[in-house]
Amino acid sequence: MTRLLNDFVGQDQALNLLRSAVANPVHAYVLYGPTGCGVVPASREFAASLVCEYGGCGECSDCVKAMRGIHPDVIVAMAEGPTYGVEYVKKSLGVWAMRQPLEAKRTVMVIPDADGMTAQVAGAFLKMIEEPVASTIFVLLATTLPKQHITIWSRCAEIPFRLLSVEEVAQVLVNDGVDQEQARILAEGAGGDVSRARLFADDPGFAERLAWWRSVPERLDGTGAMVVTLVEEIEAMLAAVVEPLTVAHAEEIEELKEQAQMMGERGLPGGEAISKRHKRELRRIQSRELEAGLGALAGVYRHRMHEAMGYGAATADEAMHRAAAVSDAITKLRLSLVRNPRQNLALERLLLSLA
Ligand SMILES: [Zn+2]
Repeated sequence: MTRLLNDFVGQDQALNLLRSAVANPVHAYVLYGPTGCGVVPASREFAASLVCEYGGCGECSDCVKAMRGIHPDVIVAMAEGPTYGVEYVKKSLGVWAMRQPLEAKRTVMVIPDADGMTAQVAGAFLKMIEEPVASTIFVLLATTLPKQHITIWSRCAEIPFRLLSVEEVAQVLVNDGVDQEQARILAEGAGGDVSRARLFADDPGFAERLAWWRSVPERLDGTGAMVVTLVEEIEAMLAAVVEPLTVAHAEEIEELKEQAQMMGERGLPGGEAISKRHKRELRRIQSRELEAGLGALAGVYRHRMHEAMGYGAATADEAMHRAAAVSDAITKLRLSLVRNPRQNLALERLLLSLA
């Protein structure tokens, strides 16, 4: 590994700010920018640099543990559902924030999705960062800085990240070893989101699965049996999508267990946190996959609408209503999936409404 906070395409300004912050940190930071522009991986390197004795060497045991998500003084907050619970903020985060660090000279509290907090949670959170412990540093992550939480942002040093261009996302992929032409195509499909583009790049079946989604309107024949078949196929697809990650997770656990054994520890310290992180990663990939698929599905109806524009007002009007209804139904489904883990029923309902 090389020195941390050096290697993020298009984010020189943010990196400069973060590097000087490591040298002389204040009490709280908010790193913000559009999804997939580098906020999350940069926050990991920032947290590691803050617990590293050498300011982010990338090689010492503090750096390695922090980058692997198993440093006892780097706490990454976990939302239970779509956002944090008040109890969790008060009882868990609050207690960790007051605690003295165990191994490093400071505790770093990373708070992802800080812009999604409810007013109540924000209140509890504010209390926590208003009563600072000298050795604790807060690192909030957000996509935007909504006004209703201004009291929180105003207590943080702001580190803005910019939206990457298609060329820059393509460059990231080329640096990963993807060939130029392929990188360009993937970057265009990813809309400035590096993590999404990487996901596509690692996944040769992605284009095929999008084609599957686009074929759904044609396959719908008005029967419930077809809807059931389609939902089964979606389920199988979602299971196949996470398979490589499941294998990678199993390998990671094996490796960590071996390391622990070599250090004379029994079992796997932090095992529960690791398995929670793995579950979260699987869920995130599946919901992204579903998002991309539903987006492709809505695209078919939008495309039909554009075509219908050429066939007189009545046809166009009907197609427009249809496209709007489909897009509404899909939006409703996306929202319901966030709250509701019974996604199969929701998918069946959606497909029935399209049939
Ligand atoms: Zn280090």
